[in-house]
Amino acid sequence: MDTGDPMVHVSRHPLVRTKLTRLRDERTPPKKFSELVRELTTLLAYEATQDLDLEPTVVKTPMSMAPGCSLKDRIGLVPILRAGLGMVEPMRELMPQATVYHIGIYRNEETHKPVEYYNKLPELEQDEILLILDPMLATGGSAVDTCDMLKRRGAKRIKFIGLIAAPEGVANLRKNHPDVPIHLGAIDECLNEHKYIIPGLGDAGRRQYGTG
Ligand code: URA
Repeated sequence: MDTGDPMVHVSRHPLVRTKLTRLRDERTPPKKFSELVRELTTLLAYEATQDLDLEPTVVKTPMSMAPGCSLKDRIGLVPILRAGLGMVEPMRELMPQATVYHIGIYRNEETHKPVEYYNKLPELEQDEILLILDPMLATGGSAVDTCDMLKRRGAKRIKFIGLIAAPEGVANLRKNHPDVPIHLGAIDECLNEHKYIIPGLGDAGRRQYGTG
């Protein structure tokens, strides 16, 4: 999907599209759902990290020296609890050197506003690239708050990676943090009156863990 906005990237990859379809299906059980979250995260991470800077390095093969490269910048993963947790391990498999900063935010059931309940963010280094992980970008409230927190602690480069977004969430994050690129599997139709994404997939935390 081309949004016409160079900061909003929606994957067109056939594997992303087929896996998202299975993820949405209400018959997909929690274990399979979690596997799909991991696979989709890997595919989206591949696209979201294409512009990371490299620095040259050299390794010794059994035959001779070989020129190579390593990632120049430090990577911080910022999963928004609890649904974002399922996106951490696939990211660490790709980037084992990444630091993980957990952020606990839940939505007040009545106001639908984000409420922070866990935050142990340290001061951040300016050369660190922070990747916010949350499967669902619904109202965008949690993502906006998380960007605010990261920037207050010195973050200069942030990206958001999510599986499904509502147009309202994308607009909110773009408006409040126009410097933050957004990487998604899909942008859906709208939010319902309870601020769930339609058609979406329901509650991403509940579907991963099989709990309320
Ligand atoms: N969070 C979810 O898990 N699902 C939605 O549809 C919206 C927010």
